[in-house]
Amino acid sequence: MIPATIPVRKNTLNIIALIAAGLFFCTPVLSQQKTRKTVFIIVDGIPADVIEKLLPPNLQNIAKQGGYTRSYVGGVKGTYSQTPTISAVGYNSVLTGVWVNKHNVWDNDIAAPNYYYPTIFRLCKEQYPAKKTAIFSSWEDNRTKLVGDHFAATGNLPVDYAFDGLEKDTVHYPHDKQGDFMSKIDESVAKKAAETIQTTAPDLSWVYLEYTDDMGHKHGDSPEFYNAIALADKRIGYIWQAVQYRQQHANEEWLVIVTTDHGRDAVTGKGHGGQSNRERDSWIFTNTKNLNQQFHAPQASATDIMPSIARFMGISIQHDKAFEIDGIPFTGALSFITPTFSYNNNQLTVTWKAVNQKGEVKVWASLGNQFKTGGKDDYILLGTAPLLRQTAVFDLSSKPSAFYKIVLEAPDNTSNYWIEKK
Ligand SMILES: [Zn+2]
Repeated sequence: MIPATIPVRKNTLNIIALIAAGLFFCTPVLSQQKTRKTVFIIVDGIPADVIEKLLPPNLQNIAKQGGYTRSYVGGVKGTYSQTPTISAVGYNSVLTGVWVNKHNVWDNDIAAPNYYYPTIFRLCKEQYPAKKTAIFSSWEDNRTKLVGDHFAATGNLPVDYAFDGLEKDTVHYPHDKQGDFMSKIDESVAKKAAETIQTTAPDLSWVYLEYTDDMGHKHGDSPEFYNAIALADKRIGYIWQAVQYRQQHANEEWLVIVTTDHGRDAVTGKGHGGQSNRERDSWIFTNTKNLNQQFHAPQASATDIMPSIARFMGISIQHDKAFEIDGIPFTGALSFITPTFSYNNNQLTVTWKAVNQKGEVKVWASLGNQFKTGGKDDYILLGTAPLLRQTAVFDLSSKPSAFYKIVLEAPDNTSNYWIEKK
């Protein structure tokens, strides 16, 4: 799954050069592949039109190495996966790669997350217990409730480094009327993240900065909001510097992803939560050079981030869990993009755009949904089609059900769809 990287070739050339120089046996680490590490950053509530207008310099520097794209949040509008454009709801789609109909975090109360849909932290730690994880956050609930640090329901998942909860420390961060205390918290969080990455380099880090959303709510589209975005960019710069330090001084390759959880309303820029284009439009900056067609596809979304990190980190996702992921990785090999599903009078029609010329798409159906309560689904193979055919039609009249979970499975990626009969 992980393609050969340029650094491997460089090391091979170095080895040849050193053998020629008679130095090979003195340099035991030369043939080691670089260790892959990830930091993803969520900056709260910045509409795509604003980030494109302001062109924050550190984000531009990150994109110069990899890329920038618009993406969407909010699930698929008007369907079973439509998702409120609310903060914790959006963060959890980034963490789990699924929309609200699965992860079940409907608002910032985070009343009953469905932990059967694992976060990237859990997938990482279950496969690689020795890898170190970290959360640097201006809101403690991200770790305690969404990731579920040391919760029985997450298998007592440990988070190795945590720096959060400053919003409860009113001695050092007294809550002022203007809301500037949150800027001070973001500053401490970003500095701690940068310092920790530079010195101990956790394998998987999440940084969350909140001040932008606070200023958006208070002032809407305004100089105050733009100033908050400039400050966020400055703080992202600390982390970007730390990553570059690691890449220069350690045998590491870093994936950096920066995104937002929702846009803002088009009238005042103060609110969010609805399904307007400006609230649904999101964006992704990344430094990775291994971007594929999904990155710029019309269906690039917040749910692509989790499978992209998993692929970069070499985290393999069990079959039944992979079948649930709503996103498509935007790094590495792909079989197809832009899948569509339609169902009418027992007839299921699926289409996709082939990226790879070779291979087949398997189309599966489950007539129930045991996964959401921790069980196993029995998938029936409806049929297979060559990737290049880009469409398949199935008659489901012999399999009557009030619910179907349909999965397209191809060698390099999957996609899924729910049919719920009213
Ligand atoms: Zn938010």
